[in-house]
Parts: sequence; structure tokens; C-alpha cells
Amino acid sequence: MTILAQTTTPTIIPGPNKERETELQLSLKDVRQRILRSQTSSTGKNQPLPQLVAVSKYKPAEDIAGCYNAGQRDFGENYVQELAEKAKKLPPDIRWHFIGTLQSNKAKILAAIPNLYCLQTLSSIRCATMLSTNRPEELPLLNVMLQVNTSGEDSKSGLSPLVASAPPATQHAELHKLASHVVSNCPRLNLIGLMTIGSIAESSKDDEGNDDFERLKETRDVLERLLVAEFGRGEEGVQWGSGGKLLLSMGMSSDFEVAIRAGSDIVRVGTGIFGSRPTKA
Ligand SMILES: *Cc1c(COP(=O)(O)O)cnc(C)c1O
Repeated sequence: MTILAQTTTPTIIPGPNKERETELQLSLKDVRQRILRSQTSSTGKNQPLPQLVAVSKYKPAEDIAGCYNAGQRDFGENYVQELAEKAKKLPPDIRWHFIGTLQSNKAKILAAIPNLYCLQTLSSIRCATMLSTNRPEELPLLNVMLQVNTSGEDSKSGLSPLVASAPPATQHAELHKLASHVVSNCPRLNLIGLMTIGSIAESSKDDEGNDDFERLKETRDVLERLLVAEFGRGEEGVQWGSGGKLLLSMGMSSDFEVAIRAGSDIVRVGTGIFGSRPTKA
């Protein structure tokens, strides 16, 4: 018996059963339509469509394959081990986003995942250095977003927001220091923006006045000004943002439409696509 030459396609796990596949297709379609509608109803009509990150934590790889078959490429995970295992058995053109709390002892494993596209939750100089040092040379730069604790809740990670009314000389805030550190000292990282989770109270308000989203935008504006003053807009080989602009990752299942109308560039939707998750014991 002749053995056929191996194809270059990696072994990819199959999708879920037909019923589940259909269910995922429909919920993805619904979320995408709502994103489109929120975008066209917002003031920034000529802006690119916000990016949808499908948050797949606790969900089986088969579910991710189901969404992949429906054209979804960006997925978000909260746990390093879970992400590493899923990345191994799912297609290499998936763009993984890490959105969990990062412990610096896990930074090495994370940085070595070839298709880890973005780490959205950077909040310490130590983790930044570990990630940059351990991002292999043969892989593309790792995009990072800095996590901002816009609600000030102790339960949320992230650094304090920046305030436009504060005099420039007092903006030695941690967030600014971390951003400068990434740009100056982390050659394997690419700072692309800011991320927030926000409080449940704010996300359940259905008017447009989400304070967390407003604080993230203000922080972005202040930080962009500080970085332009410090490094320029990336002309002299200094890389940050895209053309001197930082992206905003804000909005989850309960509030992504409000977030898009407030100017979000990246929304992270879990239950809205995959259904409810088991609560962690
Ligand atoms: C779990 C999670 C999400 C998705 O939340 P849903 O409410 O299920 O959409 C988004 N962002 C972060 C940081 C998360 O941990």
C-alpha cells in the first residue's frame, strides 16, 4: 500500500455537531449585524469596522472550530495553559488575544505561542520585560494593550486612568511609565492601545453615558499626547500605535453596542456568541 504524501494542512480538530455549529453560526451572525448597525449609527461612519474578538474561555476547541468555519479568526482566552493547549490543535491563522490576568512566571509560555497576536492586559513593567525578552526572534512582534482600571474597583486589574485636566508635569503616572517602557525598552513588543473591563453597574446602564468608556477615551487622548511629545509619531523608527494612534478595546456581551457608539475599536464578546459559561469553582 502506498502512503500518500502528507499535505501541508495541519491536523485540525473537527467542528462541533451540526446543531451546535448552526447555533454558533447564528449567534455570530447576530453579533456581527449588531456591530455593523452600531457602527453605522455612530458618528464615526468612515471608521473601520470594530474588530470582534470571540471570547472562548472554558469553551471546547470544537466550538472555536465551529466559529472558525463561519469565518471568525480572532479569539480571546483568559488562562495561559488553556490558550496554549487550544492553540496547538486549532488552525495557525487564528489570531489569539490574551485577556486574562498575567502572572510574570507564565509570560515565557505565552510569548512563545506563534499565533498569539495580542496581549490586551499588560499592566506591569516586569511582565512587559519578560514578554519582550521571551518573544522568539522568528515570530512577529507581539502587540500589547495596557489595561486600565477605569472603575477603580479593587476586583479589577489594570492601572489608574489619566486625567486631561491634570497639569502635564504631574502625569508621571504608572500608565505613562509603562507605555514609555514598552516603547523604549521592549523591542519585541508593539504598543497598540488600551483596554478596560469597566464596572457591571456602568455596563447595565442602557443610555450612552458609560463613565468607564469615557475615562478610557480620555486616558487614550492624554497618553497619545504624552507619547507624541516623547517619541514623535513613530517617524524615527520608534514604533508605537499605528501612525500615532492608540486603539481602544472596550465592550463585552452586555455593552458592546454602547462601546462602539462611544468609539471602541475592539469588542470582546463571550456569552453573546458561545452562551453562558460554567462559573469557576
Ligand atoms: C470573559 C471576558 C469577556 C467576555 O465577557 P462576556 O460578558 O461573556 O461577553 C470579555 N473581556 C474579558 C476581559 C473577559 O474576561
